[in-house]
Amino acid sequence: MSLRPSILDPLFAPATTLPGVGPKIAPLLDRLLGEPGRPARVMDLLFHIPTGGITREMKGSIADAPIGEPVTLAVTVVAHRPPPPGRRAPYRILVEDETGDVVLVFFNGHKARLEKLLPVGERRYVSGKIELWDTTRQMVHPDRILDERGIADLPPVEAIYGLTEGISSRMVGRYIGAALDKVPRLPEWQDAAWLERNALPDFGAALLALHKPGSAAQVSEEALAKSAQRRRLAYDELLASQLALALVRSRMRRLPGRVNAGDGHLVGKLKRALPFGLTGSQAQAIEDIRHDLVADKRMLRLLQGDVGSGKTVVGLLSMASAIEAGRQAALMAPTEILARQHFERIAPLARDVGLTIALLTGRDKGAERKAVLAGLADGSIQIIVGTHALFQEGVAFHDLGLAVVDEQHRFGVHQRLALGSKGEAVDILVMTATPIPRTLALTYFGDMDVSVLSEKPAGRKPIATKLISIERLDEVIGAMGRALENGDQVYWVCPLVGESETVDLAAAEERHEQLKSIFGDQVGLVHGKLAGKDKDAAMERFARGETKILVSTTVIEVGVDVPQATIMVIEHAERFGLAQLHQLRGRIGRGSRASTCLLVYKGPLGQTAQARLEMMRETEDGFRIAEEDLRLRGEGEVLGTRQSGLPGFKLARLEVDGELLSAARDDARLIVERDPELTSERGRALRVLLYLFERDSAIRLLRAG
Ligand code: ADP
Ligand code: MG
Repeated sequence: MSLRPSILDPLFAPATTLPGVGPKIAPLLDRLLGEPGRPARVMDLLFHIPTGGITREMKGSIADAPIGEPVTLAVTVVAHRPPPPGRRAPYRILVEDETGDVVLVFFNGHKARLEKLLPVGERRYVSGKIELWDTTRQMVHPDRILDERGIADLPPVEAIYGLTEGISSRMVGRYIGAALDKVPRLPEWQDAAWLERNALPDFGAALLALHKPGSAAQVSEEALAKSAQRRRLAYDELLASQLALALVRSRMRRLPGRVNAGDGHLVGKLKRALPFGLTGSQAQAIEDIRHDLVADKRMLRLLQGDVGSGKTVVGLLSMASAIEAGRQAALMAPTEILARQHFERIAPLARDVGLTIALLTGRDKGAERKAVLAGLADGSIQIIVGTHALFQEGVAFHDLGLAVVDEQHRFGVHQRLALGSKGEAVDILVMTATPIPRTLALTYFGDMDVSVLSEKPAGRKPIATKLISIERLDEVIGAMGRALENGDQVYWVCPLVGESETVDLAAAEERHEQLKSIFGDQVGLVHGKLAGKDKDAAMERFARGETKILVSTTVIEVGVDVPQATIMVIEHAERFGLAQLHQLRGRIGRGSRASTCLLVYKGPLGQTAQARLEMMRETEDGFRIAEEDLRLRGEGEVLGTRQSGLPGFKLARLEVDGELLSAARDDARLIVERDPELTSERGRALRVLLYLFERDSAIRLLRAG
């Protein structure tokens, strides 16, 4: 049962509750504003932002009225010319002023109605577009026909809306007008002083000003970006999302923590066992994490580091801290391959210092799985590495203290929470290689603490990135031959065709066959349709250098680490997102040898595609690339949220509202500090806000009341 305050009911009601929205119109509005399984609602209309505005200015005279633009004319009705009986001709009405005349044209015109609307000899105001028919001015189906009273009520400007087939902007405007009448008086959830300081209107007034602009200029795209009314609504939306995140977080923090770090003897031993020294930012991150672990509160920290920056070792040393305190640690990866790779790298180090470690994935069955589950339950296994199989039912820990989640954005929030609930006071470290622009990090992770690995391990050589047309594929293949003679290894990523996985696969298989006919058994193939075992086997052969060229679809995208691989070929690079290209390229340049990335494209390239590929050639800075990706493609694409179904924003535009977002984050934090249960007067209004923007799942975390 929803606990939504009933004051919001008119806004959540379906659009069909509005006058004029009948069974014909409703499906059109659903298509425009609904979601699968949810019809368009009154509030969806209200949150539908105009795309511009038109002015219905009075033009001086018929003779001067511009052709093809909306005008309003003061005219006198001269004559009605109904079609001859039985003929399917339009109904015409001649009108004039001192300077000329216009024929109003009505198809299927109803005689009695038109005679009432436009009586001969009377003065009327008509608005619409004038067209020239030969030399005759005509206006087909005027938008408006008004008498003296009507013209007095006509708004000087009308907002225009994005359209869907079968529904005009005028109609959408009319339904929005009706929706505006349904907006209840809501309690103010924003800080009054803040609103005043920023000269922002209240919620209802903002909606009204947005949809009933005072001038066309007010609803231009640039003006909307800055307009007080849109910003007020955007701030509401951002505050709702930040407040929901802050509530979840404060709830987690209020749960008692435990001291999850010991005397440092294991951490010290591990550090000495590493074949390299830590970078400055690795050392700093480990320090941050240790600080959180000892504190008597829950850790929820994001470790952000570009591909190859060495996040795994930070995770490992953190796990060692938790184990020193007598607890267990889990490392969770998004795919089998990654879980196995983590396990294989970490296990020797862990065992060196006397830790027990095991692997658990969905594929493990039978006796082995049973043994692992038993070891987790009795505490004899100290570190467990695995996939999401780790937080399924039936997996019980003796005393889980730290969960490290790799490549976070592939996990949903509830998966993260499920892992947290596998033990008492579980600290959580989330590692992500997606360099998330600051604005987005705030949006999706709220005020999670963040550590950033800003430097790459010493000795890395820059990657040379080149753009090559597919027409020069022969040259690329020739270059591969020379590279193999040099002892280099090659990742060959096949086009993302996009229509279906089968098509992608066919392309990869074809390329595999072709390369095999040239280079023989040195060529391997890996793709998403392979059984897990076979996938791992193919990866392993490549990692051991048994195969030298690994042809793949994008399954190797994340995390896989083969330092001898120094060449990456990406076919149809123009079809990938920047962030994805960056991830792929991060697979090379991990050893001490120079690396090359060949972006093979199919021309001709559009301007944006060209700019994106040039960007890849120019920089290896993941944050710069991510910011650019955000600018070029919008936020949903950058995080892959379109697919994951994370809600986007309707009113806020992250490209322009970055400042509002930071303000909302600070505001949310302060609110939760002062009024954690949202019981003050403003707190109760904020509950309404959370419901309004459908972030109310956070309310369930609050105590009743
Ligand atoms: P990512 O951040 O992409 O997960 P990894 O943890 O896989 O990166 O590390 C990439 C490679 O760098 C691994 O081979 C790892 O052993 C190595 N590495 C990590 N830290 C350092 C360091 N401080 N110095 C040298 N090599 C390092
Ligand atoms: Mg990694």
